[in-house]
Amino acid sequence: MKLSRVGIVGAGQLGRMLALAGYPLGINCVFLDRSAAAPAAQVAPILTGDLEDPAQLAALAACSDVLTFDWENISGKALAPLEKLTKVRPPRAALEVSQDRIAEKALFSKLRIPVAAHAALDSKEQLIGAIHKLGLPGVLKTRRLGYDGKGQFVLRDRTQIDKAWAAIGGPGLIYEKFQEFSREVSIVGARSAAGQTVFYPLSANSHGGGILLYSLAPFANPGLERSARTYLKRVMNALAYVGVLTMEFFVVKGRLVANEMAPRVHNSGHWTIEGCVTSQFENHLRAICDLPLGSTRALGHTAMINFLGKMPDRERLLAIDGLAFHDYGKEPRPGRKLGHCTILKSRVMERNLALADALKLIQWRPIP
Ligand code: AMP
Repeated sequence: MKLSRVGIVGAGQLGRMLALAGYPLGINCVFLDRSAAAPAAQVAPILTGDLEDPAQLAALAACSDVLTFDWENISGKALAPLEKLTKVRPPRAALEVSQDRIAEKALFSKLRIPVAAHAALDSKEQLIGAIHKLGLPGVLKTRRLGYDGKGQFVLRDRTQIDKAWAAIGGPGLIYEKFQEFSREVSIVGARSAAGQTVFYPLSANSHGGGILLYSLAPFANPGLERSARTYLKRVMNALAYVGVLTMEFFVVKGRLVANEMAPRVHNSGHWTIEGCVTSQFENHLRAICDLPLGSTRALGHTAMINFLGKMPDRERLLAIDGLAFHDYGKEPRPGRKLGHCTILKSRVMERNLALADALKLIQWRPIP
């Protein structure tokens, strides 16, 4: 059967970029979101309602050949009935694992993928026990629903325990040993139902306050790239994955330590729109619609910079040669991801110079 109608749960910027990638392929996306003004609703039809509303989810499934996600935190309970109505890709198991940092780390460990030493905890006493066992510094995080550094507290000494507990204390936490990383990198790949896999080059990611600021790609390190591909492929195969899957890593003493995975297209893969033969958005649609996966070959050296909280001066940015501009159509709010730009150049040096120019306009400090 030809799969051309894609239902997407959540209508944020990821959904919007999926919808835009779908049109040239003859794939039409329809969304479910609480807000009729959500970014994807500006470019495709939308059903409005709660993302876990059974009736609206069933209505979305009814008008879709395949169902996928912009928002991956939908509960397994809300998802299960939809599997009888349509294809759900990526599979429910992948979403469930990614929603719980402990389950995610257990899967990585089972697949012999290195992770930070960690402990699950539900009380302040257990936090004290975890600090005693694992040492300081460490990061206290919520097991579920944390994103962009929200629900996290870095503990450097014991006097901060009360403050950390007051900030995010409660049941369902994880304490992780702080990773003294030299870099953060991520890999995006896609797997088809038939088991075909493709992988994008690694990207090096810079965060501020837990939010991605900018990514540089390809990050040329053949050894790390080989490991990242191997790890991502293990996870994909273990979950019988279909679609795009992203893994984020810390580079510690020249080796990868897995931080987390995202069962969807990812902010650190936005550079692939201009920077690769086939974007992550197109390859996600190709994978879930049973189409051959496209080439992930990089076309040059890119920098992707997020617009956070405030849109920069469009005219001045567009004057930078080789820069592509993406406005998600969102209301500004402090720290909110409102858009991004990607610079594509044939040489690393040219890319770095253009990046420094762009960062001045976006009011980021230049790369250290
Ligand atoms: P996460 O929500 O787990 O992706 O964390 C957001 C950011 O916080 C990461 O990209 C890192 O910059 C930082 N971070 C999270 N966990 C750790 C850790 N165990 N050690 C050092 N930095 C961390």
